[in-house]
Amino acid sequence: MMYVARILYPVEVLGPGKRIGIWFDGCIHHCPGCSNPELWEQQERYHVSAETVLKMVRLIAQENPVDGFTLTGGDPFLQPEALGELLEPLSRISRDILVYTGYLYEELKERYPHLLEWIAVLIDGPYLEAGNRALPLIGSDNQRIIFLQENLREQYAPILRRQTSRIQNFRVRDGVISVGIHRPDYEERLAEAAQRKGLEIKHE
Ligand code: SF4
Repeated sequence: MMYVARILYPVEVLGPGKRIGIWFDGCIHHCPGCSNPELWEQQERYHVSAETVLKMVRLIAQENPVDGFTLTGGDPFLQPEALGELLEPLSRISRDILVYTGYLYEELKERYPHLLEWIAVLIDGPYLEAGNRALPLIGSDNQRIIFLQENLREQYAPILRRQTSRIQNFRVRDGVISVGIHRPDYEERLAEAAQRKGLEIKHE
């Protein structure tokens, strides 16, 4: 069993192409300004089996092109067993597996070398709000984009050449989920825009 809060497709702002995004639930880093603080605590409603997650992924992949996976959260490495269960089956659909983590690569290399073997790109380190420059793929400038599979570097080049990050909004049953690297004043600007339109924003 594992804690997975969301699976979204097509995610187009967290890696190249149309990707399946998987949001793990649970994080111990508690970075001030994190855009998903609702995923810090592991909640029973997000407790699912690997089989359920893989079934959803396969259903998406049967009907749609999948260029890669982006695993984020939360911190996927808070659940190393869960990662271990998912990575190999996911890699049969696409070898382009991008993982965000608040841990540092050096620590993960010591503790989980068997998991890193399956990961193409690792974006590591905590989010530091003062370093948020709205750069493509990274939340703050201390984070590193580490190509564990060098052959994918070329595929990521167009995204990394962009001047800034992009945001994508997904309409879901009970609202909207905004995906991507947000600027620090994003929530303030969103609240102002909503107010102008007479809308109310509720956080999960
Ligand atoms: S590591 Fe990521 S998910 Fe965890 S608190 Fe920091 S920004 Fe949020």
